[in-house]
Amino acid sequence: MRVGILALQGAFAEHKRSLERLGAGMFEIRQKKDLEQPFDALVLPGGESTVIGQLMRKLDLLEPIKTLIKNGMPVLGTCAGLILLAKNVEGGEECIGAMDISVRRNAYGRQIDSFSQSAVIEKISPEPIPLVFIRAPWIESVGKDVEVLLRLDGHIVAAKQDNMLVTSFHPELTEDLRVHKYFLDGIDTSRSSGL
Ligand code: GLN
Repeated sequence: MRVGILALQGAFAEHKRSLERLGAGMFEIRQKKDLEQPFDALVLPGGESTVIGQLMRKLDLLEPIKTLIKNGMPVLGTCAGLILLAKNVEGGEECIGAMDISVRRNAYGRQIDSFSQSAVIEKISPEPIPLVFIRAPWIESVGKDVEVLLRLDGHIVAAKQDNMLVTSFHPELTEDLRVHKYFLDGIDTSRSSGL
């Protein structure tokens, strides 16, 4: 299994570490030719979604990545990665626009812009999972094909639609591997593809 991690800005090294600990092979995506090799899944890390979006456009990565995702490439988007995948972004611009969710950037505001807590995500594990939020978005609303995985105080912070899994929080910034494991377990390696 090979996972490509978008490594333009943000917390990509932490995802690498989590996936490595689970035994997945991986490589960094920094330019278009990195997408030419066959791979099984994609990770869009946290960081600054506006910066990552601009770099994707500038480096000619946006259209090929959109195509891979629309063709079924499994993708995990955390925080800024979630924003990049959303069809509608309040307080920002649509980027990949593949997931039928409406997202509010920096939803938690300045007062509590970073916090951690834990919660049970039933689909993933019966035991609470630690959740780290950093200037996080939340999902305001979802389309009919989207499965909500976790609501916190009424706000959606984890969801899934077909090949796309998103979290407002950062599983890669904890030692807990259950979110990454859930993602990897859902990957069909017989569908490997590149550009
Ligand atoms: N606030 C950031 C954004 O709008 C996301 C923060 C994060 O990824 N930790 O892109």
